[in-house]
Amino acid sequence: MVAILSALASVALSEIVMQILSQGMNLAGAIAAAILPILLGGPMLLYFQIQSAKLRDANRRLETLASTDSLTNCLNRRAFTGRVGKCLSQASGSGALLVIDADNFKSVNDRFGHDRGDEVLQMVAEAIRQSVRDTDLVGRIGGEEFGVYLPGAGFESAHHAAERIRAAVNALFVTSDGLVQRLSVSIGGAVCAGEVSFAELFRVADRRLYSAKNGGRNRVKLGGSIDDAAVARLASGLAER
Ligand code: GH3
Ligand code: MG
Ligand code: MG
Repeated sequence: MVAILSALASVALSEIVMQILSQGMNLAGAIAAAILPILLGGPMLLYFQIQSAKLRDANRRLETLASTDSLTNCLNRRAFTGRVGKCLSQASGSGALLVIDADNFKSVNDRFGHDRGDEVLQMVAEAIRQSVRDTDLVGRIGGEEFGVYLPGAGFESAHHAAERIRAAVNALFVTSDGLVQRLSVSIGGAVCAGEVSFAELFRVADRRLYSAKNGGRNRVKLGGSIDDAAVARLASGLAER
């Protein structure tokens, strides 16, 4: 289409130029004026299309890079928070948030070294990913802390997912030079019903995470549905410890 329009414009312009310079354009001139833009414009158009496809591809890769945690390949905190927030606003609050913290991770670093600790974080991230669906969101939201958002999940399915994650991590061991340590995570979760922001949901899940830690670690704490009133009560410290 662009090539045809260019050819027509070229013929018209050539005719005007030729009118000014002489007595108008002859047949050979008209054919040349029509064909040249197609010959030149076609490859140029192709070139620009290829360049723009490359640019789109580079932008996509850049976007993925900017939203990915480089150690674990999970979403980074910013991307995770943003995407969960978007899900919450679109689905009018149907879903569950799990906050997962590696237990006694300082001792993993102390006993096996920081590099091995990094590998352990990768193992934990993989165990989490393997325990949830591809459509669930998995993010690294702190040093040894992960977040999982399960869109559309109710209490039952969120609890199953959390237990799957807990068991999968608890099946892992870190070993080196005769030292062996079994891995575990504590999980706090909040199921939402009604309109809840990420910050509110996180506050509740985080509270339950600390309750799981205090309860002895390697366990899941997940309450009933969180609505606005429950969030307000929990946030002001009047309910559930
Ligand atoms: P708890 O069960 O109470 O969570 O104990 P913890 O030892 O896991 O918690 P604490 O907050 O005392 O220590 C967290 C440790 O995680 C300390 C920190 O060095 C380590 N850590 C945080 N980010 C990374 C990381 O990217 N790589 C490694 N190797 N360690 C990390
Ligand atoms: Mg920890
Ligand atoms: Mg922590």
